[in-house]
Amino acid sequence: MSEMTAGAKAGVERVWTGGCACGGVRYEITAQPGPISFCHCGQCRRQHSHVGAYTTFPRDALRRVKEDTLAWYASSDRARRGFCSRCGSGLFWEGEGNPNVDVTAGSLDEPTGLCADRHIWIDFKEDYYDLPDDGLLRRASTDPDNHSKVES
Ligand SMILES: [Zn+2]
Repeated sequence: MSEMTAGAKAGVERVWTGGCACGGVRYEITAQPGPISFCHCGQCRRQHSHVGAYTTFPRDALRRVKEDTLAWYASSDRARRGFCSRCGSGLFWEGEGNPNVDVTAGSLDEPTGLCADRHIWIDFKEDYYDLPDDGLLRRASTDPDNHSKVES
């Protein structure tokens, strides 16, 4: 992360791109995306068939260049999840009043240049898999920093 931050400060321009499996939704990210977090909450498990993997960055750095098939699901009264209504790819997570937006790591075009740094919502992990110590941070749903943050 520090190496990429240094690169950004040195004026190295990079635009991250991504989209869904069928091409109905495409996006660009114009700010350094934060480290990937693996989310073990029940909503992520159902939407992604397993653990969710997201990067977080300021909302105004996201530009949806194609959104013909983009649909939204209100997963709670405070958040919504964007997905492709044609191919089913999970793409975006937006929290009400949150200046950041989350984008699924798996929808980014390669190479992402990003690394995972944490597991979040681990107290909601299902019983069908183990979560051995892999050196990443581990955050419960009740921890104040359980979400990936651009500045951390
Ligand atoms: Zn699609």
